[in-house]
Amino acid sequence: MLFSVSENAQAQKRKKGKKKNQVEVVAKPEKKKAKTITDLVKSSKKIDGLFPIYQDTITGTIQMIISDDQLNKEYIYFSQIADGVMDAGRIIRGSYRGSKVFKIEKYFDKIEFITQNTSFYFDPESALSKSKDANISNGNMASIKIESHDKKEGLYLIKADKLFLAETLSQIKRPNFPGRPPTAFKLGSLNKTKTKIKAIRNYDNNTDLAVEYVYSSPSVLNRGSNALADGRNVSIKVFHSLIAMPENDYEVRYDDPRVGYFTTKVDDQTSTSSTPYRDLVHRWNLKKKDPNAAISEPVEPITWWIENSTPVEWRETIEKAVLQWNVAFKKAGFKNAMAVKIQPDDADWDAGDINYNVLRWTSSPQPPFGGYGPSFVNPKTGQILGADIMLEYVHFTNRVMYDKLFDLTSLHDTFENSKTEEDDNMYCSLGHIMHENTLFGNTVLKATNATDLEMKRMKKEAMTALIMHEVGHTLGLNHNMKASQLFSPEQLADADFIKGKCLTGSVMDYAAINITKDRTKQGQYYDTAVGPYDVWAIQFGYTPFKTKLERTELLDQSTKPELIFGNDADDMRSPGKAIDPRVMVGDMSNDQIRYSIDRFETINTMMAGIKNKFTKSGQSYQELRQAYYILSGQRGSAANVISRFIGGVYVDRAMAKQKGEKQPYTPVSLTDQKRAMAALSKYVFAPDAFNAPNDLYNYLAMQRRGYDFRTPEDPKIHRQVLGYQKNVLNHILHPNTLQRITDSELYGNTYSLSTFMNDLNRAIFKADIYYNINSFRQNLQLEYTNMLIDMLTGKQNSRYTNNAKSMALYNLKNIKTMASNTGNISSRAHKQHLRTLIDNALKEVK
Ligand SMILES: [Zn+2]
Repeated sequence: MLFSVSENAQAQKRKKGKKKNQVEVVAKPEKKKAKTITDLVKSSKKIDGLFPIYQDTITGTIQMIISDDQLNKEYIYFSQIADGVMDAGRIIRGSYRGSKVFKIEKYFDKIEFITQNTSFYFDPESALSKSKDANISNGNMASIKIESHDKKEGLYLIKADKLFLAETLSQIKRPNFPGRPPTAFKLGSLNKTKTKIKAIRNYDNNTDLAVEYVYSSPSVLNRGSNALADGRNVSIKVFHSLIAMPENDYEVRYDDPRVGYFTTKVDDQTSTSSTPYRDLVHRWNLKKKDPNAAISEPVEPITWWIENSTPVEWRETIEKAVLQWNVAFKKAGFKNAMAVKIQPDDADWDAGDINYNVLRWTSSPQPPFGGYGPSFVNPKTGQILGADIMLEYVHFTNRVMYDKLFDLTSLHDTFENSKTEEDDNMYCSLGHIMHENTLFGNTVLKATNATDLEMKRMKKEAMTALIMHEVGHTLGLNHNMKASQLFSPEQLADADFIKGKCLTGSVMDYAAINITKDRTKQGQYYDTAVGPYDVWAIQFGYTPFKTKLERTELLDQSTKPELIFGNDADDMRSPGKAIDPRVMVGDMSNDQIRYSIDRFETINTMMAGIKNKFTKSGQSYQELRQAYYILSGQRGSAANVISRFIGGVYVDRAMAKQKGEKQPYTPVSLTDQKRAMAALSKYVFAPDAFNAPNDLYNYLAMQRRGYDFRTPEDPKIHRQVLGYQKNVLNHILHPNTLQRITDSELYGNTYSLSTFMNDLNRAIFKADIYYNINSFRQNLQLEYTNMLIDMLTGKQNSRYTNNAKSMALYNLKNIKTMASNTGNISSRAHKQHLRTLIDNALKEVK
């Protein structure tokens, strides 16, 4: 019944449709001879290639030819943003939108474009493979009427506007995220009249179209940023590519949990294994010219083009950085695997052309990254078919998003949350972190009277590290946030020892800049070579293994300390997220606690002198304000790094009985957890932790620009300090952390929940609760007390274990006892506030 109703409705719809076009469609049945392709393309220009395109020279509409031998065949569809705006949800130049496989099928008088599901594998030998299509959906993207059929040549002509001028092949406008404020900028609806084809490039193996989509809205509540000339009409330019399925001898390589490659996830539906994974590693089809040679040149190198928009003075540094990877490829048996060329100023190809891998430069408003290295693959094999690296000029500038600097977590979260599934894990925020690092480096160097030469050296190292990292992504590597464990703080402060080295195991980390506390010992700031992990990972991805044993032996080296690996999924940047404190961003050395303490002390020393160093006659105090926020921001990062040791558990991903294997889970030692607690107590919670010379605050002024500056403009010092403290508390009092402290007491953790909670209470109250309490500490104590109360009676209280709740109650009662009526009026008022909060909360505890 249901079916017939909907069929009826559809038939009616069709009738309605026909009525509209009555003149054209109904009036000409059978009487005239059907038009031939030649008739229909008479006024069109032919652009020949994989799918020949005819564009009408008067109207610009396009038609496309499909040939008989293309039917029932698979192709790859790929799209990227040629130009967009941040306001539209980070739709910006060079964003890759992922690739997918589609099939072209003929259904009566229509040509259909059907997305194939490539997520599952069925062993063809298994009888089950006969049901491989069960409960798996393909996606019919378009069903387009055949305008003319040339039987003799086996050609079909279809109108292709529907394919490209609508969001048929991919969704371009992003859905509204729930929780987005209703006043936020919104793209209008796709305007079919204004949307147009901008360029057609046709090659033997790919047909590419550049389309300008216009989203219109008659009126907008929010006009968006100044990147939009008119918020009612926003253009987004997209490159679409239809690509022939490569027919080559590419060798599929399957993922291993010990190395970090981007993968295409494939489930083996006919396997009984507990890990039925056939995840495809993303890699280039690199083949030896001479397969028998130990080291050979590749048949085709991975060629990078430096876009002609690249600042000339940086080209040599960039080229050298790309070629650093050849060191790794040599170990995998390849000589000159990577090649670099410069795009001539008069090149007749566009840098967005998928046939070229280009290092591109932009200087965008609100740049979301300093660098981004996307690649796209054949989803059936994992073969990388193309890549680009997008670099933002912000990297060289002193433009600071300093209002966000004091809350690194929120900055990174904004970034993470704007990701879609398509680009999941492909975005890289290294550029941001590197930019923050370099701003910090700049501030320290300026404050210590470094020479121009030294400043240049630091920037050059930063550029080298950034390029190596982004190139690493385009070779298939994902992040290795655990790599900064390679050297000790002493080694990092030994200029001769680290010269020319990677300061971490891998350039794929987001490590802190190496700034030595003793400024006379300053050596290298950043990685200037690929690391031992990078070499090994390239060996895994690219060595033409002759036997399975060769691969196993290579992977079995994973237990070597320099090959340690953990990626974004394991990293601890967000409070409560993961468990191994070594997998962290913004950290450095195999003693992150000591390194971070040094950072605090460096910053505390710098704070005393910045007013003098950054006040320049004839200039506003903008630079001083930035220096202050940059230094403070680094305090926040260091605090987060230290906090992750509390309740931390080290993870080892070696396979059972592998040489050098450790047990998978080992809690952080009591000594280190105590050390972390002591450091937090001194550098984050203590009454004088965030001291700065008071007269500095009188000068933290921003430069006025029209009416366009943040108001009220006064520095929000308490809010900022509390922000850092809360970031730490959010982690160490996170339900996951507290639960893990108790659980891990069963398997080696000796810093018990009660000792930890008791230590924390002391760190926050002991120094001043019986005396006068300064305004920073009042803030901290009140915030912390409220967090304890929330553990008992807050909305999320069911997430806390009973042990944690008991300790929260114990601490609250303790605070109430300590908070006696002593000190000056402000301190008494504060303590009375604490007592009242606790009294009220205790009434609610059931
Ligand atoms: Zn990255």
